[in-house]
Amino acid sequence: MNLVFLGPPGAGKGTQAKILREKKGILPVSTGDILRKAVEEKTTLGQEAKKYMDAGELVPDEVVIGIIRERIVQEDTKSNGFLLDGFPRTVEQADALGRILGDSGMKLDKVVLFFADETELKKRMLERAKLEGRTDDNPDTIQNRLAVYKEKTQPLVDYYTREGLLVTVDALGEVQEVSERLYATLNGK
Ligand code: AMP
Repeated sequence: MNLVFLGPPGAGKGTQAKILREKKGILPVSTGDILRKAVEEKTTLGQEAKKYMDAGELVPDEVVIGIIRERIVQEDTKSNGFLLDGFPRTVEQADALGRILGDSGMKLDKVVLFFADETELKKRMLERAKLEGRTDDNPDTIQNRLAVYKEKTQPLVDYYTREGLLVTVDALGEVQEVSERLYATLNGK
């Protein structure tokens, strides 16, 4: 099964992606993780991306599209499918994804939208800051990431609804509860 996880920062996409990998063997591909690793390793990509990430802005489309284009054709995405966590985030990225998949004879099965209210999302990100020490989990950057989500990424909800791929999962509650809702949705219940 090939999936996209869509939803605002703090909705728990990364956590649910890890669980799906353990339970179903679906390979998570997170552009955020790939970029954080590049920043840590101080590669050219990392140095370019860091300024955007620290400000809570999106890294330019061509950069992340390039990352996905290389990653998605690797063999490990083919056995049990892949799960894109945090990509696409703009209509341009979604169009590019459609082309990349089409060229490789692949397709998306579902786009899962995780939804939660802003107060809860902010609370979660501040808690995560304490646990993981992510530098972009600070109040100013969080506010900007939420604004960027609304402006640039939310249009993808309509985009994938039109394509008939969108399903929704309530992201509020315990991790386990959200997982159960996710399974039910993926199984078409
Ligand atoms: P995430 O871990 O998905 O919250 O991503 C952390 C940061 O990485 C974002 O705030 C962006 O700066 C950058 N990033 C991750 N994925 C993308 C993407 N698809 N497009 C642009 N920037 C991204």
